[in-house]
Amino acid sequence: MEFLSNSVKVENGMSSTNQQSNPANADHSEAVTSEAKGSCLCGKVTFQATIKAGVGACHCGMCRKWSAGPFMAAHAVGEVDFTGLEYISRYSSSEWAERGFCTSCGSSLFYHLLPRAEVPAGEYILSAGLLSDQQALVFDHEVYIDHAPGWYGFAGEDGRHRMTEAELLAMFTSTE
Ligand SMILES: [Zn+2]
Ligand SMILES: [Zn+2]
Repeated sequence: MEFLSNSVKVENGMSSTNQQSNPANADHSEAVTSEAKGSCLCGKVTFQATIKAGVGACHCGMCRKWSAGPFMAAHAVGEVDFTGLEYISRYSSSEWAERGFCTSCGSSLFYHLLPRAEVPAGEYILSAGLLSDQQALVFDHEVYIDHAPGWYGFAGEDGRHRMTEAELLAMFTSTE
């Protein structure tokens, strides 16, 4: 199982977003968005997006296979404007999501929640490491903390919302 994100309702990009209120969105940084640019390691793939300031780490086994350690997730609001589409390969990692990577350099690009009833617009969760300007980012949540191996950890965990798999899934099913 993999779940990486809160349900977010997006209507027409950045002009009229309307978020569910749930525990993980309570933090101020979740509400702050900014325009961001980024690229993969080789530069063949670039993008522009509106992203939330709040970055999350996912410790699930799939994310760790995909990115060596936890996936550091920057949540996009609305559509992401990619260039270099011919270099983006999409791996279908579950029934509800796919993961994109650059076929030239191998950079992990995004986790994409496919459109479905609970997430009608779909949702792109970008690899935070791709962002060209990271000044505004705030590391404010961790998910699948019960899947993290023992050999690493992040300092300052008291200041973050930390969820086990069960807690994350419960949050999902309690919204709508
Ligand atoms: Zn690349
Ligand atoms: Zn994960």
